[in-house]
Amino acid sequence: MSLKFYNTYSKSLEEFKPLSKDVVAIYNCGPTVYDHPHIGNFRSFLFADVLKRYLEFKGYKTRQIMNITDVGHLTMDDVEQGEDKLEAAARKQKLDPWAIAKMYSDEFFELLTVLNVKKADLYPRATDHVQEMIKAIEKLIEKGYAYVSGEGVYYRIRKFKDYGKLSGNTPESLVAGKRIPKNPNKEDPLDFALWKLDPKHIMKWPSPWGEGFPGWHIECSVMSVKYLGETLDIHTGGEDNIFPHHESEIAQSESCNGKQFVRYWMHARHLLVGGSKMSKSAGNFYTVKQILNQGYRPQALRFLLLSAHYRSNLNFTFDGLESSGSAVDKLVNLKDSLEGIISKKSKGGDANQQAISLSNSVLVKFEESMDDDLNIAKALGYVFDFVGEVNRNISSIGSDSASKLLETLLKLDSVIGCIYGDKTIELTPEQERLIRDREDARKKGDFSASDKIRDELKRQGIQLIDSKDGTKWKKSLC
Ligand SMILES: [Zn+2]
Repeated sequence: MSLKFYNTYSKSLEEFKPLSKDVVAIYNCGPTVYDHPHIGNFRSFLFADVLKRYLEFKGYKTRQIMNITDVGHLTMDDVEQGEDKLEAAARKQKLDPWAIAKMYSDEFFELLTVLNVKKADLYPRATDHVQEMIKAIEKLIEKGYAYVSGEGVYYRIRKFKDYGKLSGNTPESLVAGKRIPKNPNKEDPLDFALWKLDPKHIMKWPSPWGEGFPGWHIECSVMSVKYLGETLDIHTGGEDNIFPHHESEIAQSESCNGKQFVRYWMHARHLLVGGSKMSKSAGNFYTVKQILNQGYRPQALRFLLLSAHYRSNLNFTFDGLESSGSAVDKLVNLKDSLEGIISKKSKGGDANQQAISLSNSVLVKFEESMDDDLNIAKALGYVFDFVGEVNRNISSIGSDSASKLLETLLKLDSVIGCIYGDKTIELTPEQERLIRDREDARKKGDFSASDKIRDELKRQGIQLIDSKDGTKWKKSLC
């Protein structure tokens, strides 16, 4: 059976054929770093992780890029009004937006480690690519797809004939039956911002049109092309990214480069909590840290978030989290039992026929299910049938059979990624420097400087413990 993915663009299952035999080019829309990542965000990131791991299981090499949005994501991007999310968070927390971006991107990377997400090849930041965005916008103006107005630069969506093909939101359907407020700065109220003029914005850059900042959509068009080329194999995101974000990325990239932008669009559906959409006002909103700080293991959370088909609504419940913990235990216990048999070398001989056929059978069924648009729910069913069957025969398994079965279990887990110990968090070089500076300040008796550094580290989740043997540190997830 061949690998098939559901392509949001064609709205059908398609056989996956990468453009190049050597490497699959994958772009994932990453986090907007203005708040603590919530479990819904991580459903999407874990889907991207399973996709990459499965392609590697199939023998593909991958090049995966995930962006960090640290400027320009407006709070109401569908109507191009609202405030930059970074600046809004900065105002609320009385910090500058650069500090907000640093704080939440550090948290994001920490959670990737804790949840055993394989690292992407690169995590480019929007703020490091503003010059490239300005160049792309100039090219769009030159080609007649963009125009300068009193508020900035806008993309002329009616000029791009395929606008709406991904989401179904064609210009006609967007205006049908709705009263869309006119904006004297826009030729068409549907046009979206490529560059917003705002000399008061804290994160601002000079441009040929005046000081301001880039729109959210242009960053992904620019960074994906820079690191992966003009045509990507796979672009992923959450379903809420389909419109306007991905629709606008297509318009910008294809009109700029004159080539197909993405061959397979894949979107993870929303996470529900207790059966309804997660929202702060409904009281069913959880950040990843909140869950982990309640004592739940990251392995269990990882398992729960990846255990449903990515195109179905996954319903998060605490019962589900408990049973995910038991499922992870089953995998880990089997690994321990098989390792125990191998270390004793009680019975030798070749792997017996039963171990070989059990291994082959689970691998074939796992692959068949995953080939079918990553049907992980079905694939996991076969994995646990295998675990049950091996456990029933555990007392009669010899060491060579155990080696074979362990190899199979670990191969399956190369995709699931739930058999792992606690990930230790390391200090960043900057945090190490702060601890040294504080030691120096204490030696000099400058306790106000030392307290300031202690508070700063506490804010970053590092707790300092002073003892007569020196200062030790502990990472807290709060
Ligand atoms: Zn994006």
